[in-house]
Amino acid sequence: MQKNKSRLNRNKERISTAISILSDEYGPIPPEPRRLEPCHELVFTILSQHTSDTNSERAFTSLMKTFKTLEKVASAPVNEIETAISRGGLAKIKAPRIKSVLTMILDLNQNSLDLSFLREMPLEDAKSWLKQLPGIGPKSAGIVLSFSLGMPAMAIDTHIYRVSQRLGFINGNINADKAHDILEAVVDPDDIYPFHFTLITHGRQVCKAKNPLCEICAVSGDCPSIKSTNRSKKLKRKDPYNSAPIVVPHTYPTEESPK
Ligand code: SF4
Repeated sequence: MQKNKSRLNRNKERISTAISILSDEYGPIPPEPRRLEPCHELVFTILSQHTSDTNSERAFTSLMKTFKTLEKVASAPVNEIETAISRGGLAKIKAPRIKSVLTMILDLNQNSLDLSFLREMPLEDAKSWLKQLPGIGPKSAGIVLSFSLGMPAMAIDTHIYRVSQRLGFINGNINADKAHDILEAVVDPDDIYPFHFTLITHGRQVCKAKNPLCEICAVSGDCPSIKSTNRSKKLKRKDPYNSAPIVVPHTYPTEESPK
């Protein structure tokens, strides 16, 4: 018990130090991105699955230009939604998903798409409410709650997941969904957005999926997965990173991914 507590505190300390070092490296941290309406944010997260930011932005703009309101999207035929979002990719999967999510919200929320009531709920309840919607998992729920409603929810994408594993903030056998709860419990609520921003940036620029640039990494001093030329020589492996103790998948397994 005591041992677990001190491990937890040590993890909190390490995370807080990493945020501080990475904030110096990549800062200043820009203001949190916010869409005006949480339901718009939710639809945007569906459009952003398995596509670039540019494509999802294009698809969202086209969707709103075509229908003007999400209420009209909810009552539109699926094929018309599909045409409107075709520039974003995977329109055949995303159009029925958007339609069924909006329809279910209207059913559950007295015919309203206003999700601002979630802000008044305890965080866990608000997450559960969103996760009952088809195809919405912890990452999409976290994006809506944190970016649109300003709640201290974690939204773990592939970069945050990979960097957290490599730095040992979560064990290698923890899946991405479970990682949300674990990291939410150890990252200070005020640090959730800085954690999000710095780990994504670090994952994109330095701690890359295939070839992490450990030699220029600002947090290498406290990283159990650091590449070691000496170790690679000893083990006679071509890629020393593959000999690291933590196994990191290169894809982000989640039920939110369109099949
Ligand atoms: S030392 Fe290497 S593996 Fe560790 S966080 Fe830095 S880039 Fe990633």
